[in-house]
Amino acid sequence: MTFTIQQALIPVDDGYANVDVQIQDNAIAAIDANLEVVGTAVDGKNKLLLPGFVNAHTHSSEMWQRGLIPPVPLELWIAELYDFTPLEPDQVYLSALGTAVETLLSGGTSVVDHLVLIPGKEIETIAAAVRAYKEIGICAFIGPLIQDETLTRGIPTGGKETEHEAYIRSTEATLALMQEAVDKFHNPAEGVYVLVAPTGIQLCSDALFQGCIELSDHYNLCRHAHLLETKAQQFLAQEKYGCSAVEHLKRIGYLSPRTSLAHCVHLSDADIEILAETQSTVVHNPLSNLRLGSGIAPILKYLQAGVNVSFGCDGAASNDSQDLLEAIKIGSILHNITDLDYHHWITPRQSVEIAAFGGAKGLNLADEMGSLAVDKKADLVLYDLTSLSLLPRTDPIGLLILGRPAQAVDSVWVNGKRIVADGKVTTINVEDLRKELFERSEWATNRQSKTLGEIEAHYRSVMGLPEGVKKGYS
Ligand SMILES: [Zn+2]
Repeated sequence: MTFTIQQALIPVDDGYANVDVQIQDNAIAAIDANLEVVGTAVDGKNKLLLPGFVNAHTHSSEMWQRGLIPPVPLELWIAELYDFTPLEPDQVYLSALGTAVETLLSGGTSVVDHLVLIPGKEIETIAAAVRAYKEIGICAFIGPLIQDETLTRGIPTGGKETEHEAYIRSTEATLALMQEAVDKFHNPAEGVYVLVAPTGIQLCSDALFQGCIELSDHYNLCRHAHLLETKAQQFLAQEKYGCSAVEHLKRIGYLSPRTSLAHCVHLSDADIEILAETQSTVVHNPLSNLRLGSGIAPILKYLQAGVNVSFGCDGAASNDSQDLLEAIKIGSILHNITDLDYHHWITPRQSVEIAAFGGAKGLNLADEMGSLAVDKKADLVLYDLTSLSLLPRTDPIGLLILGRPAQAVDSVWVNGKRIVADGKVTTINVEDLRKELFERSEWATNRQSKTLGEIEAHYRSVMGLPEGVKKGYS
């Protein structure tokens, strides 16, 4: 695609500048005042141009349960989530579209979908998500969510002998499935990347991690996982390995410059040094960490230690939306209460850098995307500075990050293709999506999760909580 955005506002060192941006062959060809128009002219007047952000961790199919799961910690929340998880690839297709629409309309051009697989229909699940992302045109990084241990193993035993059922699929079969997913769907030229993404140390064996490392090395795939999201996982790592989860992952070779780790709430200073040394990326999911009571990730410490950080929404059942600007806002100001020294606090411009460049770096694509620079891919977002939520005219980035932007995204280009224009997604029919989401769901309250009932007493006991099970969460 060839076009020229005229007279857009972009951030520069000492404020803002009005520039023209030429795009040729899907990449930024020139940025300067008063360039000649190549291709189509796009009016950028009174609009802010920023690089696209990365929604660096989500689970698209959780959209079917957003707003529904009561306020409980991760280990109980996940039991309920899986009791009611979608079972049809069609649903996965629709929720992937929904996730993409919300991401695009809040400044994102890439999404990392840690995709929950429907048992027995794993490849169909991935195919459904790939179809959705290709149709809408967002750049998609799909990490099929794999594990080889059952859910109950994710809770520390507290020293008690505990019986666990075998997981539904063997480690070998899971790795074969990953191989098939890579063969069928990994296609960077078309904006679809497959990641290896074991869910985390809580439910995965070393053999599974090892197989993922081999695939990642062979095909140059990025690596993803949850890491130390909760206190319970911190206890579990000690039980399982006798050391921290970070030390263990380093020992088995999972950490690398192309490894991104979601949450990272409960890390020691020594763990943080390991992340810096291995150049791993932390994906900050502040809303989910608050929603599930997981804690506040020490993001200021990560930044000071030189660890790369990016932002994620996390799945919509623990957030409960996919508004990237909301996650960026909370994920930036949340840390002001953790450090008296305001020199360490995250500025709005730093937030933009974390969301765009940090996201790109975490996907090993810092050379290709994540900033407004010549030769980078045209993953661009134009914000309408005449939108009521961005008025009156103050500091555009200050207000975009610290305010509550509503309908502020005017246009989005992914790899040079315009997929949002005049605030509307142009590649799919959003009205049809709205109807499908309505018709395929129903209002529900107080549903009963069988698994949650089974594990709650044990969870309370290992976490040192008083006995007793609360009836009826809602
Ligand atoms: Zn997650």
